[in-house]
Amino acid sequence: MVRPTVFAVPIFALMIAGEALWSYLKGATYYRDRIDTWTNIFLGFMSLVFGALFGLGTYYIYEFAYSIAPYQFPANAWWTWVILFFVDDLAYYIFHRVSHESRLFWNFHVVHHSSEEYNLSVAVRQSWFSGLLHWIFYAPVMLLGFAPWMFALMHGFNLLYQFWIHTKLIDKLGPFEYIFNTPSHHRVHHGVNEIYLDKNYAGVLIIWDRMFGSFVVETEEPRYGIIKPLKSYNPLWINTHGWAEMFAAMRERQGIWKKLRCVFASPNMERPEPRAIVTGL
Ligand SMILES: [Zn+2]
Ligand SMILES: [Zn+2]
Repeated sequence: MVRPTVFAVPIFALMIAGEALWSYLKGATYYRDRIDTWTNIFLGFMSLVFGALFGLGTYYIYEFAYSIAPYQFPANAWWTWVILFFVDDLAYYIFHRVSHESRLFWNFHVVHHSSEEYNLSVAVRQSWFSGLLHWIFYAPVMLLGFAPWMFALMHGFNLLYQFWIHTKLIDKLGPFEYIFNTPSHHRVHHGVNEIYLDKNYAGVLIIWDRMFGSFVVETEEPRYGIIKPLKSYNPLWINTHGWAEMFAAMRERQGIWKKLRCVFASPNMERPEPRAIVTGL
């Protein structure tokens, strides 16, 4: 399948190097943790390799979904691409929201969030194994009648867009903030400040967050990372610790429903609610 992300590698590398140099010259600390930066880059390279492997399987699933679609959009009509842009971006919003709000999917996506830095290298810090399940969210795009190659192209550009928003260099962008996902909106998404948790899931358009009640504007400096800091640079552990924690939690729970909750409910469910603490007193 066409993967625009692969062709972007040299551009991404130059932009990361440029941001790191700028940060160094200005005395800023955007790249204070060098091991973290190289870990991000290694995770990114390997996610392309694993993505290609899983892509072989998902290709057949997407082809099958497209073959049974009741209607097939014409590739040579401009309005097909406009509709596909919105459909793909909405599918990304749903994929991303579920990736935060259901632990099974968070176990993959946590990789992207476990860095405590926020710079362009974090953009390429991606899960190796998310290709196992992410097709669940995208097969419906083919069922709606978009050919897999068209989806791959559009989705690739969607992911490319998301690269430049991983920066502290760019402040708020005026009216652009109303419609599009921006560095400011995405800093909120990576923040673990209480008011920022589970917010701003957008890919390209922030309108979905505004429509579905998950939008928050950046008002305070975000603290980056995950609620329980990982403190590891081991790429395999970064990709698997979520599973280990989930299975440990399942062992502690009695009964099938409580175990299932460990798999599908929010990964935040074990966090003590402020209410519970008050009751405990
Ligand atoms: Zn996320
Ligand atoms: Zn991100």
